[in-house]
Amino acid sequence: MHTLDLIVPCYNEEEALPLFFSAVQEVLPEFPETKTRLIFVDDGSTDGTLSVLRSLCASHDFARYISFSRNFGKEAAMLAGLRASSAQFVGILDADLQHSPQLLPAMLHALTDEGYDIAAAQRETRTGEAKLKSGFSRLFYKIINRISDANMEAGAQDFRIMKRKVVDAVLQVPEYNRFSKGIFSWVGFKTKWFPHENLSRVAGKTKWSFWSLFSYAIDGIVNFSTAPLKISLLCGAVFSIAGILYALYIIVRTLIFGSDVPGYPSTICAILIIGGFVLLSLGILGEYISRIYMEVKRRPHYIIDETDILPETSENTEQAECAGPVSDAAPSGHE
Ligand code: UDP
Ligand code: MG
Repeated sequence: MHTLDLIVPCYNEEEALPLFFSAVQEVLPEFPETKTRLIFVDDGSTDGTLSVLRSLCASHDFARYISFSRNFGKEAAMLAGLRASSAQFVGILDADLQHSPQLLPAMLHALTDEGYDIAAAQRETRTGEAKLKSGFSRLFYKIINRISDANMEAGAQDFRIMKRKVVDAVLQVPEYNRFSKGIFSWVGFKTKWFPHENLSRVAGKTKWSFWSLFSYAIDGIVNFSTAPLKISLLCGAVFSIAGILYALYIIVRTLIFGSDVPGYPSTICAILIIGGFVLLSLGILGEYISRIYMEVKRRPHYIIDETDILPETSENTEQAECAGPVSDAAPSGHE
């Protein structure tokens, strides 16, 4: 008998949850030899998500929930779920049914019978997505794969099932700024990709704006590569050399032809270019330093407010760990 924990991050999903729950219940009979548990992580929802979860979990023995004290983001929710899981196989899927549970039996089969360690969904088409968004997304994967050592598959989704050893490897990555797409690919292992259609949300609305996606992409690049630092170093060197050559040219020209007009436009250009570049480099440095700052604070990734996961299992140690620093935690406004 296999065991499978399915982690479901939920943020304001009160409308989607009942639909999600019945969709999962429908597929469970397709793998009767697997004991499945659902771990819902309520990421500080402000609607009725928590009460929906409480009643769902009270009436179904295979469903459990963890609820955060505020919204900590999907990354934190996934981490809490992974820490709370204890099964041989662990899956992650969204609550909005964009990740269709019908794919679960085939994914599970890839792990149990085909020798894969990870079964993950990959978005093949980007139909239904804004042109600008999919263009930026393609550009992101192009850049990240060129400059980082984690090879990220374009269109890779968080929707996946992993073997225990993969989950343990992911949990060994302790960083505060978590970019799961990067971490999942960084740990390696044999992955089977499942083409997956871009389904539309069953209820509620997406929590991602264009700006939050943009800053997510910056997170991915800064967390998995130091190339931007090298680029600013390289550009700095190029500007300096150009400056020196130009100075030499001016000296030689003055010696031969004597001094002419003061050259106001070229001075302004040089100031603008170099000033702009200095600011850009400082900004890049700032991105890295702010991350170092967050890492050295060693704050917990999330604070659990309540959960119905029983204390005697391994998850309790994590829970105690995360519940411990509650009193030290600074107000959320500081992040
Ligand atoms: N989610 C979360 N915390 C957040 C934002 C989202 O747990 O701060 C959950 C959300 O409830 C959903 C999943 O993450 O189950 C994906 O979010 P969403 O559907 O908004 O993203 P999209 O599918 O549009 O990329
Ligand atoms: Mg979604």
